[in-house]
Amino acid sequence: MTGNSLNHASPLAPEWLAVPADLNALHEPMWAADVARNDSGELAIGGIPVSELQREFGTPLFVMSETDFRARARAFSDAFNDAFADICGGVDVYYAGKSFLCTAVVRWVEEEGLRLDTASGGELAVAARAGIPGADVALHGNNKSDAEIHRALDMKLGRIVVDSLAELERVAKIASARGETAKVMLRLTPGVHAHTHEFIATAHEDQKFGLSMAEDSTDQAGLSAAEEAVAAATGYPSIELLGLHCHIGSQIFEPDGFALAAVKLLRFLAAMQEKYSVVLPELDLGGGYGIAYTPVDTPRPPAEIAQAMAAVVRSTCAELGITAPRISIEPGRAIVGSTTFTLYEVGTLKTVRVDAPAAAAAADAGNAEKNVTYPRRYVSVDGGMSDNARPVLYDADYSAIVASRTSDAAPQLSRVVGKHCESGDIVVRDVYLPEDVAAGDLLAVPGTGAYCWALSSNYNYLARPGVVAVRDGSARLIVRGETEQDLLNRDMGV
Ligand SMILES: *Cc1c(COP(=O)(O)O)cnc(C)c1O
Repeated sequence: MTGNSLNHASPLAPEWLAVPADLNALHEPMWAADVARNDSGELAIGGIPVSELQREFGTPLFVMSETDFRARARAFSDAFNDAFADICGGVDVYYAGKSFLCTAVVRWVEEEGLRLDTASGGELAVAARAGIPGADVALHGNNKSDAEIHRALDMKLGRIVVDSLAELERVAKIASARGETAKVMLRLTPGVHAHTHEFIATAHEDQKFGLSMAEDSTDQAGLSAAEEAVAAATGYPSIELLGLHCHIGSQIFEPDGFALAAVKLLRFLAAMQEKYSVVLPELDLGGGYGIAYTPVDTPRPPAEIAQAMAAVVRSTCAELGITAPRISIEPGRAIVGSTTFTLYEVGTLKTVRVDAPAAAAAADAGNAEKNVTYPRRYVSVDGGMSDNARPVLYDADYSAIVASRTSDAAPQLSRVVGKHCESGDIVVRDVYLPEDVAAGDLLAVPGTGAYCWALSSNYNYLARPGVVAVRDGSARLIVRGETEQDLLNRDMGV
């Protein structure tokens, strides 16, 4: 009912946020496939109602569908393997562990035939505990310690992604001193930055990661930092140079940016093979595939992105007359993001009146003088920026629904906030929730599988929530929530 919806639209809402036709409905792309309302209207995952999860595990709680995780991992792997089968025999898919990592997840990744990306010694420790073969693990990072490099060599990692010339030299020295060869890829910055629907191409890179491909990026005329690194790598007997790597950004929906980066790296790879008489058998195109955090996000199916990228790799290799390198990709959020929702309990509610934004006041010219105000309702939950830092860090948008019941009440513009001593402690900046939301209701925020638990903190001495995995109708903790004792354990008391 458009008329009804329009009546409820708040001038305080951002332009992209529509009043949902049905506040109880789940917008499918934001949720794990096994999440649905049950017959009594309660949200359930794998048939388990959220009230039961709260009783058993408490709130806040990260609720992850193992079934959905495995399905998304397989979907990426299948789509890219199909699209690239005739180009390079398939694709190696590295799950970006930094998005969410624990030993159970490493095992799922391995069982589904994927590999694992790590970015620190701690992440390597999780990989080692899970028992994944080192050959299936990659190590990233712009400032790896000697200890991390040693650990990578101890574990016989399949690849160390080297970020700078100085690091290349350190890896070479450490491997040489151990009488070993390190398998290395070089992370390049192709001058392609992508975010959601746009990408920008620049010659110069202004960021901490990677080796610049710009030809004036070294003191030597015409020689880029990237080329200098290729030349150096081919000269170290303790380095096996596998190939090149790039990662152009995150939450990307259109394949254009990936395609342009692939073309730039393939051209460079061909030039280096020719000039230095080497073969670079691998090319890693990174991660960053977008997911739906709100109803306006429209991720493409993995097959569509895979086919677009495959077409570009195929034609570029043909044009350059080179054998296509083995391609790898590194999706993180696109595998884990939508598998998970955060379950919160509603506490304090407060409604404030806010001046109409300038645009609304102008449109409502007759009333502009009268200082029109509109209501914004603050809905406080029992977590906040300590379990989801992304709204604060990146202005990220999320969505929310009442999970413990359905409601026929009218939509009201709401802001879901946490319990921290910080006015910026926002979980969902703008969402329509039913007018009758009350203390004790359960709220679910979908799309919190990636970079939420991973970025969680103990701000205000809140215990970090646990993570529950649901499979075959049963739920188990894969990471337990912290206790008060955990919070006190490191305090030396002296
Ligand atoms: C963060 C990161 C990824 C994963 O990004 P997503 O947006 O989660 O897909 C992959 N590769 C590298 C090098 C990264 O830094």
